[in-house]
Amino acid sequence: MTPLYYDLHLHSCLSPCGDEEMAPGNIAGMAALCGLQAVALSDHNTCGNCAPFLAAARAVGLIALPGMELTTREEVHVLCLFPGLPEAEAFAAYVYARLPDIPNDEAVFGPQLFTGDGDAPQGREPRLLLSAADVGLYDTAALVRAHGGLAIPAHIDRPSFSLLANLGFYDPAMNFPVMELSHRADETALRAAHPELEGVRFIRNSDAHRLEDIRDAQNALHVGVPTAEGVLGALGLSKN
Ligand SMILES: [Zn+2]
Ligand SMILES: [Zn+2]
Repeated sequence: MTPLYYDLHLHSCLSPCGDEEMAPGNIAGMAALCGLQAVALSDHNTCGNCAPFLAAARAVGLIALPGMELTTREEVHVLCLFPGLPEAEAFAAYVYARLPDIPNDEAVFGPQLFTGDGDAPQGREPRLLLSAADVGLYDTAALVRAHGGLAIPAHIDRPSFSLLANLGFYDPAMNFPVMELSHRADETALRAAHPELEGVRFIRNSDAHRLEDIRDAQNALHVGVPTAEGVLGALGLSKN
């Protein structure tokens, strides 16, 4: 088992709140400089920059996973991680079909930029990606699993867009064995306040929206095989 330093929650310039400098090549370069070894891109409700991100991350020797930060019907953010691009893009098409057709107001939310080779902008996503998709929280784990991936409720300690803030509790019937804490979270206090989290495993990511938010390597996973599938396996996703 090899400890791998990871950050599996990073936003690119395709997220309206993501800084325009968060182009895939820049993210990959910064992640490598920070000593990270496994990274995932997780823009809001889209996998549209995952292809250039995977290429850029692999070019600098990182293990890279395509992902998305889904906004469920309950306005809960859920990190969805996939072993490869086909699985991620199939899930992204499913989500996009359930995303309200509200145009993005760039003056309010910022541009949503697709990028290509060398981080060059290649176009804009016209639909606002911050809206809630018509996907229910009780269906999310199974849906992501059916696409070969793993669903992880994001930043559950935060006061907005989180499972505990929006619902007030965790129901184990939702079937999320792994959840994400923000880097400042007090795990002991959270577990004391929410005994229903017993047995749930926590990971921590940066949720970086700016290059300077990508943090030095500090969280490690013990991975059997150093691949995207190996990372998902270390998080408890079985192949069957
Ligand atoms: Zn979020
Ligand atoms: Zn995020």
